[in-house]
Amino acid sequence: MEKIRLGKTGMMVTRLGFGGIPIQRLNEDDAVKVVRRCLDLGINYLDTANGYTTSEERIGKAVKGRRKDVFIATKSFPGTPEIIEKNLELSLKRLDTDYIDLYQFHGINDTKTMDRILDPESGLYNVFEKAKKEGKIRHIGVTSHQMDTAKALVRTGRFETLMFPFNFITSEPADELLPLCRQNDVGFIVMKPLAGGMLDNARIAFKYLLQFKDVVTIPGIEKISEIEEIAGYYEGPQRITAADRREMQRMRDKLGTRFCRRCDYCQPCQQGIAISMVMTFPTFVKRLPPDWYLEGGFIADNMAKAATCVQCGECEARCPFQLPIREMIAENCKLYEEIKAAHQKKAS
Ligand code: SF4
Ligand code: SF4
Repeated sequence: MEKIRLGKTGMMVTRLGFGGIPIQRLNEDDAVKVVRRCLDLGINYLDTANGYTTSEERIGKAVKGRRKDVFIATKSFPGTPEIIEKNLELSLKRLDTDYIDLYQFHGINDTKTMDRILDPESGLYNVFEKAKKEGKIRHIGVTSHQMDTAKALVRTGRFETLMFPFNFITSEPADELLPLCRQNDVGFIVMKPLAGGMLDNARIAFKYLLQFKDVVTIPGIEKISEIEEIAGYYEGPQRITAADRREMQRMRDKLGTRFCRRCDYCQPCQQGIAISMVMTFPTFVKRLPPDWYLEGGFIADNMAKAATCVQCGECEARCPFQLPIREMIAENCKLYEEIKAAHQKKAS
């Protein structure tokens, strides 16, 4: 499988990587088999996170005996220095390794948080630097969903990679963000190549991304058949035909008026609702086990808050994509309640 240099990390990674969220839904044996099949197909870049429950441990088991052949990327939310230190030690233990190739600040979506992690007084970035000096991590990266913040993160020169959503619906990174990464030699890692499960034509979605020869794309993989199919796209014809363009346009038209980019321009909300999370709730349903979003935690708390929306419409006035936010929040709250009721019925 073709490899690229991942920015200033110098890591030679396969253009197709493995996204470790969906293996949480499998039993351990099946999860290990899926990861091993990826390795057998030649994939050498595996992405996971401290927050993805069993994912790190399963990846650790799958790469046993092959550790030196793969690059493992994981992440930690930027709580406090102590939390990051604890998360890092836990990741090393779960992955059963003594180093992590790429350690990333997870989900930096506003410049206030960016400033906080870079402020020497917070000690957050220092934890990463210290871990790098000690050889526990080899490179420092960052993940974001917010375009302006992502550009600012790249410009700081403090991160070797950026992970950002990119697909033919959320195609904005092609305009400025990706060229900016190239200018700064920051490796670009594509998350959400299928728009969080909203794009059902994987062939077209990957054909679009295959135009960009210097990015690594990490689809979340749950089944061996999925990764075999996707790996096939990397070997097959890559030229986008007129029929492909028509199909892309059809899907853009279908999703365009209701597709949330998670840019957060609609904030702030007077009720404190994390609007983009509610707007993309169906993608969590597709990707996560129900316990994750029903039994406490950020998603459950935020869905409860969403039910308090007073329909003021201020968010809609700020959304650059003119999305019917109030209508979609109401729909997704209804979906959440339906899933909750079905889950409770099953459990009783
Ligand atoms: S319409 Fe609802 S979600 Fe939007 S700003 Fe008002 S309260 Fe918040
Ligand atoms: S609702 Fe609109 S402004 Fe808010 S995150 Fe989604 S696309 Fe951005």
